Amino acid sequence: MTTKTSVIDNPYRLPRTIVPAAYRLRLDADLDGATFSGMVEIDVEIHKAVASFTLNAIELVVAPATVHVSGREFASSAPTLEEKYETATFDFDEALPVGPATISLTFTGILNDQLHGFYRSTYVDSDGASRVIATTQFEATDARRAFPCWDEPAFKATYQVTLIIPEELAAFSNTSEVSSASLGEGRREVAFAETMIMSTYLVAFVVGPFEATAPTMVLGTPVRAVYPIGKGHLVAWAMELAVHALEYFSDYFAIPYPGDKLDLLAIPDFAAGAMENLGCVTFREVELLIDPASAAHPEIERVALVVNHELAHMWFGDLVTMDWWEGIWLNEAFATFMESICTDHFRPEWKKWVSFNNSRDIAFTIDGQHSTRPIEYEVISPDDCRGMFDVLTYEKGCSVLRMLEQYLGESTFRDGIRIYLQRHAYANTITADLWAALESASGQPVGEIMDTWILQGGYPLLSVEGTTISQEPFAYAEAKGASNIGSTWQVPVLTRSLDGGPTVAMLLRGPSQGAAIDTSTVVNAGGSGFYRTTYSSDHLSVIAERLGDLDEIERAVLFSDTWASILVGRSSFEDLFSLARGLELLDEPTTWNVVSEAIGMADRIVGDDASDALAKLVRQLYGPVLARLGWDPVPGESAQAGELRAVIVGALGIYGRDADVIKEATARFDDGRVSGDLADPIVSITMRQNRPGDPETCEVRRETASTPQDEQRYLHAPASSADPAVVLAAYERAFTTVRTQDGPYLLRSLVRNRVAGPQVWRATSARWDEVIERFPEHSPVAIIAGTLAFITDAELAVEVRNFHESHPMAAGQQQVQQILDLLDLYVALAQRNVATLAGRLETLVN
Ligand SMILES: [Zn+2]
Repeated sequence: MTTKTSVIDNPYRLPRTIVPAAYRLRLDADLDGATFSGMVEIDVEIHKAVASFTLNAIELVVAPATVHVSGREFASSAPTLEEKYETATFDFDEALPVGPATISLTFTGILNDQLHGFYRSTYVDSDGASRVIATTQFEATDARRAFPCWDEPAFKATYQVTLIIPEELAAFSNTSEVSSASLGEGRREVAFAETMIMSTYLVAFVVGPFEATAPTMVLGTPVRAVYPIGKGHLVAWAMELAVHALEYFSDYFAIPYPGDKLDLLAIPDFAAGAMENLGCVTFREVELLIDPASAAHPEIERVALVVNHELAHMWFGDLVTMDWWEGIWLNEAFATFMESICTDHFRPEWKKWVSFNNSRDIAFTIDGQHSTRPIEYEVISPDDCRGMFDVLTYEKGCSVLRMLEQYLGESTFRDGIRIYLQRHAYANTITADLWAALESASGQPVGEIMDTWILQGGYPLLSVEGTTISQEPFAYAEAKGASNIGSTWQVPVLTRSLDGGPTVAMLLRGPSQGAAIDTSTVVNAGGSGFYRTTYSSDHLSVIAERLGDLDEIERAVLFSDTWASILVGRSSFEDLFSLARGLELLDEPTTWNVVSEAIGMADRIVGDDASDALAKLVRQLYGPVLARLGWDPVPGESAQAGELRAVIVGALGIYGRDADVIKEATARFDDGRVSGDLADPIVSITMRQNRPGDPETCEVRRETASTPQDEQRYLHAPASSADPAVVLAAYERAFTTVRTQDGPYLLRSLVRNRVAGPQVWRATSARWDEVIERFPEHSPVAIIAGTLAFITDAELAVEVRNFHESHPMAAGQQQVQQILDLLDLYVALAQRNVATLAGRLETLVN
């Protein structure tokens, strides 16, 4: 279903005439001057006599190469650089003979401020002093900015890194330090052990004023946390997670951790969330450093998910690696899947697979647009690859793996994964290799099933009528032109009876199929299916009446399916809100989140003038829950109670305009009692009140925040303000004092602001060239996602579309297109409901 361009036809790919085996890299970093110089010796195998070779290099000045082969030395002319393809070609007067050879190269480069390649950043430490670090981020194709190399995942080699750095700084790389010697004049040379065979994008080195914990030994591997000086009190949680994850994955994969040590590093400026460099995993500070005693549950769980995700990659990604970038989905989908499995093992009471429903819903929403894409598609250029790091790769990819795992059985699935990793350790794979291993373990036609999920976009809607289950493609709207939504899937369907009995697995292969079911049957039992379900009305009424007999995840799925049905115009807001009346006694934040999303949408649609009925409804639905839970944690409450309390307080204070809740929230804000689960709702409720002095208080608290979570909370606080001047002041900061890693996400929050969002978006789009120049590549897509709030202004939605279609992103334009289509969907929802919704809600609450 996709056509593959061969390596030979793709000008971005390197020929395999010469293949690297080992790099010895020596880099001298001048942090103050923001430059570096380096030399690299590369042991290669020359497979064919050639008078030239090409490798990747960009933003480097590279001297002519020297090649030693067959006892002779060959010198090249000055390399020809091809900026478009990011290559350097070295020509020789005569052909280099076949055989093992060593290439020597010297080069210079810049420590850029773009948060990719080998980059430099400055930050202010806890003593107010300005500090400089130099660090790397190579995925997908930026190792070539740090040293000339065969920068494709299939050219695996070993790396021996030596760094020359300012004497007083610390240095880290993928492997253990083997020597450190002063060179005089304030310089020091640090050498690291040779790595295992791996891809260039996993090489890393970090230089700066860092400290490390003493190593904790886990199954023979020393594990440390590394952090900017002074933040050592924030790493205990990450260390506990890392110890668990290393033990868990060593067992799950039945292969020991492949590196010689494991460091988790908190980096003050980082474009992505985290990066799975073997043995040298880098994180945004907020994804690693935390004080669990003062953080909210989602923040605590977030660190767990990210640490577990990255450590899963040590095997799945680092030990076994995709052959080319179209396989990145498998890397990321699998790590997302394993992060949840591992987290579920670490804290079963968190019910990770239930809350995954909220993540899966985001994938459903994008994947129900005609502008969706298949999970796997052809990647030609680096920009194509950068566009793949999205919710379809991560969340949809994870969802279909979870569906498959639940269909095959957890231990069978795990056996298949073990076969896959053992077969392909230290090598590269394509997607079919995983299916083959899972077929070996299960005897099921895994490839045939999964091709329908991976190679076409979209997902099915299953209709249950009597004893027949049928499928059709789910789409939120009519296709205006070409559609990327597929036609038929091989759907693993699990069913069970509410009256008891085993869960039954069936494979729906064609348009429809008979099944042994009746009106007490739950279709999508266990809630792991990547499809929507619609029941006949008599069947649905039985399910709705027996809401309490569903398990938690099935209940969440029922609410999500209903919300999807509202979006396509088949159900009404009232259907969902009536269903929500059955939730009062349940500590189920995942399901409540679905309800709150609908409440938020309804609130925008009815507008400020007509929202009394909505506010009353919110107080009716959410008020009794707060009365039951109280404001403060009580001993013996469920593990979900704290998170639910935050959802409930937030909704009551914001949409319910509940005077008591507002009073309590602002009082806590004033006393500085802003921690734990209620921290976010307290800040956002308070900022909505437009009290003088609060924005300044938030700025002071941001500047003096003792945790990255508090820093983020107060950074985003102005987005909740009802005062345009406060919002616009924060907008100015996003382009000046706010770190570039945070700027796009702050702008996204501000674009969503009720009173000033459109103004922020117009001002931002007016300086779009600056946006592209200033922020890390690809991250401005986040800003565009903020426009999804413009649901009640059809003209503005058209303006947004026209602007972004005439200013396409180099990477990620397909994601932009999906956002624009989603905005159209929300506008249509608003238009269908705007005239009548307030009146209908009035009827519902009286
Ligand atoms: Zn990942």
